[in-house]
Amino acid sequence: MTIILGVPKEFEYNEKRVSVIPDVVPRLINLGMNVLVESGSGEGAHFTDENYRDSGALVTENRQELFQKADIVAAVQCPPLEDISEMKPGSIFTGLLFPEKNTDIMEYASGHGLRAFALEKIPRTTRAQAMDVLSSQSTASGYTGAIIAAGNSPRMMPMLTTAAGTVKPSRVLVLGAGVAGLMAIATTRRLGAVVTAYDVRKAAGEEVKSLGAKFLDLGIEASSQGGYARELTDEEKRMQQEKLVGAMKDSDIIITTASVPGRKAPVLISEDTVKRLRPGTVIVDLSSDSGGNCEVTRPGTTIVVNGVKIIGVSNPPSHVAVNSSEMFSRNVLSFLQLLVEKGEIVKSFDDVILKECIVSGDLGGAK
Ligand code: NAD
Repeated sequence: MTIILGVPKEFEYNEKRVSVIPDVVPRLINLGMNVLVESGSGEGAHFTDENYRDSGALVTENRQELFQKADIVAAVQCPPLEDISEMKPGSIFTGLLFPEKNTDIMEYASGHGLRAFALEKIPRTTRAQAMDVLSSQSTASGYTGAIIAAGNSPRMMPMLTTAAGTVKPSRVLVLGAGVAGLMAIATTRRLGAVVTAYDVRKAAGEEVKSLGAKFLDLGIEASSQGGYARELTDEEKRMQQEKLVGAMKDSDIIITTASVPGRKAPVLISEDTVKRLRPGTVIVDLSSDSGGNCEVTRPGTTIVVNGVKIIGVSNPPSHVAVNSSEMFSRNVLSFLQLLVEKGEIVKSFDDVILKECIVSGDLGGAK
């Protein structure tokens, strides 16, 4: 029996991405799968049902049937329990599952013989790079942040020498220089801004400088396992906020991307600091969905405090859904190449990458 891969329409109101784009369908068919796509899945990213049919997928209007028939469901965000409870024992679902938040779904899956693979848990190793959804989506996020900042600032980014005088370049401060931060730096640099960046991992300094930006060293080192940051102590947090104020007051735009895995986003800009910034300053908070790096951020909303605009960007990669879906589906394809061999689902899930990201079910024959 040929494996059926189900591609459901995303259900969150602000999710425009799709897990598999039409271009990737022929490669999935070559892997030995039939691809069953829910009608309208690609709408948010401008892929039509016709595009999917032309690429060899079957399109269904019946979501329930998709979950019932699929051997593997690939989604962007974790589908709701209502859908997962339709899946047959032994089947698999994958996506950005965040099991810590979706405990009811994970409990159901474990109790009903379903395997679940959380793509956000794929290790950040060289071998897993092609399936690293966190990197591909953070790249889209950083770009989005820079463009939203440019579109909302009352200033132009580049320096201009004109007959009407010289226009100074915008001064951009990027807080958190991981994948998203580096992309925000690169994009604002391309637009001509003068960029400074800060991160608690000193190792990020070299990458920041290689993009032509200045690295702010506040004397705090908080590198932790796997290249991630650890949470700062209360004393370090206080020191960090104090030392950052000067750099913030000198900036026209602040783009924040700071995050600590499994934790609420660290607050780097207090309400008091916002009130000390110059009117016209724009803060783009890319961590708004995980609590926000600015104390007054409201996810998905723009607010103005004393002339300072604070933009809580919700689901940043969804703003550039075409490209983020392209990257996401190539990540999914690479991941599925670990799960499917010669047209069959592997018997044991002993690949180190699968072991790291399985969040429900057992490893088959693997120890
Ligand atoms: P992330 O999204 O978890 O965090 C974003 C950034 O916020 C990080 O750089 C982090 O250090 C920083 N941060 C956390 N707390 C902060 C604070 N209080 N103040 C300022 N900054 C703070 O990180 P990410 O972008 O996913 O990257 C994590 C690591 O993974 C990086 O070291 C990156 O180089 C590495 N990585 C490796 C590979 C690979 O080898 N294949 C691929 C991608 C990323």
